[in-house]
Amino acid sequence: MTTGQAGGALATAPAAAAVRRRITVRGVVQGVGFRPFVHTLATELGLTGHVTNTGDGVVAEVEGAPAALARFGARLGAEAPPLAVVEAVDGEDLAVAGDTGFRILPSRADGPSRTLVSPDAATCDACLAELTDPADRRYRHPFLTCTHCGPRFTIVTAVPYDRALTTMGRFPMCARCAREYADPADRRFHAQPIACHDCGPRLRLLTADPADRTRPPRPATGPDPVAETRRLLADGAIVAVKGLGGYHLVCDASDDTAVTTLRRRKSRGDKPFALMARQLTDVEHLVRLRDEERALLTGPVRP
Ligand SMILES: [Zn+2]
Ligand SMILES: [Zn+2]
Repeated sequence: MTTGQAGGALATAPAAAAVRRRITVRGVVQGVGFRPFVHTLATELGLTGHVTNTGDGVVAEVEGAPAALARFGARLGAEAPPLAVVEAVDGEDLAVAGDTGFRILPSRADGPSRTLVSPDAATCDACLAELTDPADRRYRHPFLTCTHCGPRFTIVTAVPYDRALTTMGRFPMCARCAREYADPADRRFHAQPIACHDCGPRLRLLTADPADRTRPPRPATGPDPVAETRRLLADGAIVAVKGLGGYHLVCDASDDTAVTTLRRRKSRGDKPFALMARQLTDVEHLVRLRDEERALLTGPVRP
């Protein structure tokens, strides 16, 4: 603490000396944009230090004025990203280190693994807007995701949640995705499943030989697997759609022959099948919905 000159009046209040704390956040805090959130918050409050993922959760060391650190602590839980579930926040005092700036450090896999992985989250509104925008570089990209949506638990092979420890690890990012991934201001900053038309998984349609079903399915030759699949479904086909966490067997629910064939093949006498609908207004033609169901069908936990 500094003091004014002996006997002299203070023109301004002296700045409080910096303090430093290590803050450990546990819960569902990896793969939900928590490190970028900490980075933005710390930078906004003029704090220095760093943040990283460990097997224990997100660990931040922050340094600055005590009042700013207090605000940081209060906002950490209150303004956490939408998919985060903060279960505990622990802090301990450290010696001041005099960092300049605030950095996101590579994940550390040391120590016990006690962190929780977020469930998969339905495509967010911002990603859906890109999906249908012909001017966007991810227009009609079937695997679009961001920090606030997309696969998590399904693609994780170990924690801490980092691209190398997910099934996306084997797909190198293209230069544009790598730039978005590294930009703290981007919605895909450290979004581990990031991909685009130039990199990441590809969509394929495999078709069986109707004359000889013992032969392995072969890739369809058409240019657009989605359009070809729609054509097949309209024709009464049953399609196995590989999605997050497994396959959906899909057919046209209004085609009695297709539904009967699926029932026979699956030995599902009269047990109801799940219905898929594009949007809530379509669902409302089929079933009566309460507010809770409406919220589930439109929220991040929707199928
Ligand atoms: Zn998204
Ligand atoms: Zn890419």
